[in-house]
Amino acid sequence: MKEKTKRPCHYSDLFIKYNGDVFPCCEVWCRNELKIGSLDDPGILSRILDYKPPASCECQNYKLREAREGDNFKSSFLNIEFSLKCQASCAMCCVEAPEWKGKYNDGYFDIIGQIAEHFQPDELLVQGGEVLFQDNTMEFLSKLRASLPRTAFCLVTNGCFKNRKTLDSLKIFNRIGVSLVGFQNETYKKIMGLDLDITKKFIEYVHNETDIKTLLKFLSTPSNIHEIPLFMEWAAGNPPNAVVFEDTGFWQYVNKNAPFSYWNKILFRTRNDFLRTVENNAETVLRNKLKIYLRPHIVDLLSLSPGDFPGTLKDYVILHDIHIKYEDL
Ligand code: SF4
Ligand code: SF4
Repeated sequence: MKEKTKRPCHYSDLFIKYNGDVFPCCEVWCRNELKIGSLDDPGILSRILDYKPPASCECQNYKLREAREGDNFKSSFLNIEFSLKCQASCAMCCVEAPEWKGKYNDGYFDIIGQIAEHFQPDELLVQGGEVLFQDNTMEFLSKLRASLPRTAFCLVTNGCFKNRKTLDSLKIFNRIGVSLVGFQNETYKKIMGLDLDITKKFIEYVHNETDIKTLLKFLSTPSNIHEIPLFMEWAAGNPPNAVVFEDTGFWQYVNKNAPFSYWNKILFRTRNDFLRTVENNAETVLRNKLKIYLRPHIVDLLSLSPGDFPGTLKDYVILHDIHIKYEDL
């Protein structure tokens, strides 16, 4: 097994939550014991640099440690969650954006701007809620763009927008990641409260009318997992730079021991259809160098491994448990 690198993760990554809490990376946003501080704290910049992790943390590649003399500060990735305001009403929203009645502290824009300008990250990833639905956030980001000329601006969005103003505003981004929770109109509408046709047109617009890199993320639930092959078929025909398959907690919603091995049958059939779809589209996948990222829970659910993909297709299938960076695409 590969040796994990011990590193001060906060010297290369940072995650800022919508409420101003700061974490050493986006994978630990729910581990309050690893919180570095808050944007409300005086001297938050020094707190970040002097952070001593109060608990241990490790993932696929890294083990977190405090910074030592001689460590080079190289901020590669700043991930910021802005307001939770969102036009969607996803039934599985992990930040409970549809129920959110709060108000984002617009006062954070100043300190976020200072942190971003100080860190000059290689990549700035922004998310909400829905950033494209937040005029004040978009206005702030447009200004910030000018002071970070070498930073790749990346957006996470539901992509359900068709108005000209929003489409024009996309030009500040270098990469757009669109999250889809289902791939049939009625499923998509029931889970997200949005219109799949608008989202598909949005993705096609980004592909055809801009040179922004795209990453499409399929988020599985029990009511959409069987649509993975449909999504894969469409994505192969409208090639983004990468597709990502991620689960939102399948077994939390259903009974693993339901009669007749119901869920095992659904998962097994989905797995086979997915593998067949990738194989049928192998030529397109290879020609477009389309990367297929499989997150750990979906790998478990569908019992997948790179060995399931024939020949050189294997090289385009990546098992991944941390954030996919702009430079990865
Ligand atoms: S999850 Fe990995 S990258 Fe993030 S803080 Fe922990 S060890 Fe570092
Ligand atoms: S689009 Fe994202 S933030 Fe908005 S409701 Fe859905 S999951 Fe939540």
